[in-house]
Amino acid sequence: MRPALIVIDMLNDFVHGPLASPGSREIVPNIKRLIARARSLKIPVIYICDSHYEGVDWELKLWGPHALAGTWGAEVIEELKPERGDFLVRKRRYSGFFQTDLGILLRELGADTLILTGVDTSICVSHTAADAFYRGYALVVPRDAVATFDPKENEQAVGYLKRVYGAEITTTDELIHRLDGKSQ
Ligand code: ZN
Repeated sequence: MRPALIVIDMLNDFVHGPLASPGSREIVPNIKRLIARARSLKIPVIYICDSHYEGVDWELKLWGPHALAGTWGAEVIEELKPERGDFLVRKRRYSGFFQTDLGILLRELGADTLILTGVDTSICVSHTAADAFYRGYALVVPRDAVATFDPKENEQAVGYLKRVYGAEITTTDELIHRLDGKSQ
């Protein structure tokens, strides 16, 4: 497996701002551990980030203004800040693939497996998973590194990813253990 670690919408507006939820705060330490391990194992870390245009993006009518391009709300939270060597893909729709350069980036990196983390499991993570599935990527989802606005929905959403896209469901601990084993 040639994995890439995908970190979806861990932005100020989703953790501290208008779309914040307890779930998005709870997963921060797990994503932080996964990012650190991925960097040390030379697994690409790809941030996929909402970056909306006010008055243009239809999605804002549904959810209210969030992650507006160029604002603090659209920046990755301080604890998970991208570093040199990481990748950042901006999106204006739910899916990280729609009209972005994620596809060409993954091809250039030679990735065949996406480890999906971030928010919201039933929205942006799910839509990104669907597009990844259509393109033939294997999916791994640490259930304690994804969250929904409604915590009760998370297990349901994770079950959907498993059933519909064949995602392998794991935990942060299990996944780190396995990645460590592969690197030896
Ligand atoms: Zn959005």
